[in-house]
Amino acid sequence: MQLHDKIFEVFIEAKELDFAIQNMANNIAADFKDDVLVFIGVLNGSFMVLTDLMKHYQYPCEVSFVKLSSYEGITSTNEVKQLIGLSESLEGRSVIIVEDIVDTGNTVEELKRIFKEQKVKHFKIATLFFKPEAYKKDIKLDYVGIRIPNKFIVGYGLDYNGLGRNLKSVYQLANTNTNNNMINIVLFGKPGAGKGTQAEFLKQKYNLTHLSTGDIFRFNIKNDTHLGKLAKSYIEKGDLVPDEVTIKMLEDEVEKNLDSKGFLFDGFPRTIAQADALDAFLKTKDWNVTATIALEADDEILVQRLLERGKTSGRADDQDVDKIRNRYQEYNEKTAPLMDYYKEQNKFYAVNGIGSVQEITEKLSTVIDIL
Ligand code: AMP
Repeated sequence: MQLHDKIFEVFIEAKELDFAIQNMANNIAADFKDDVLVFIGVLNGSFMVLTDLMKHYQYPCEVSFVKLSSYEGITSTNEVKQLIGLSESLEGRSVIIVEDIVDTGNTVEELKRIFKEQKVKHFKIATLFFKPEAYKKDIKLDYVGIRIPNKFIVGYGLDYNGLGRNLKSVYQLANTNTNNNMINIVLFGKPGAGKGTQAEFLKQKYNLTHLSTGDIFRFNIKNDTHLGKLAKSYIEKGDLVPDEVTIKMLEDEVEKNLDSKGFLFDGFPRTIAQADALDAFLKTKDWNVTATIALEADDEILVQRLLERGKTSGRADDQDVDKIRNRYQEYNEKTAPLMDYYKEQNKFYAVNGIGSVQEITEKLSTVIDIL
């Protein structure tokens, strides 16, 4: 089934959802049937689960909805918005918050804070889905329907960019890679954005072959190879090495790793011609670029990072502000157009490259996990 640009397949059937909800209703009733509960659904996602939960909970209770969304697109954002829709006083009442899904726990934390101010008697959280691997809070979830791995799901109240809420079952992304589990990722970003650092973590985590064209060039320069001699003058000035040289080198490296589970391309492609060549080359193997993920950061921060790195890396192109500026100029003229190139193919994702190494690895992993 297709929603927007993505293909989804059934993950949890309607009857399994119903069974889990019935179970939640029974557990809530066992604890609270003598109290007149106030069930509060968190819109938009919870409208399905709260409706069905009410069909299974046949004791006196009130039902209300609030809105406090934290989801945009397919990755969870950190910011949690304002609460809308709570008009009646809940002082002294027993409240069950009903969520469709709890992942990072940001929304739950925010709700707990808000309801504490309301001086409620009991504050309990019921959620149909829970992603234990993504949960970062120590707030207890009182009633959990189904625990699921940290993957993107849609249907039964949950949407993908607005679509899919009306589906009776829950769906996950279908694996549409030509080569089953192969993931080929282009790590994109300006010099100094942290591509190399992140690649070190991601290659381990996802068992990928890391190909950094910059590293390969430097290795060849150090060993004074023919390729090194060809590339040296360009690299030292901060210019791009000509496409024919770079493309051939990259293809040779891929050929050396044909049993790989996937590639992490770091610093390649840097021109439209290289991107075209990469697509054509991968196609000859029945592979493709799965996604391009950009690490975004301001130029000024990056220049400082590079100068700092230059003090220890010994890289001449990291030590001179004019060379660094030239690398950015090359990026802006030749590499930046690749963003539109991959956006047109629905393969472009961006994450904020400012933060701790671990935070950024987590953000990148969130994207890779939904591919
Ligand atoms: P990097 O380590 O990725 O910053 O690359 C260092 C230098 O290697 C760049 O400034 C270029 O001179 C050269 N280089 C690396 N990758 C490419 C590429 N894909 N195309 C052309 N030149 C490249």
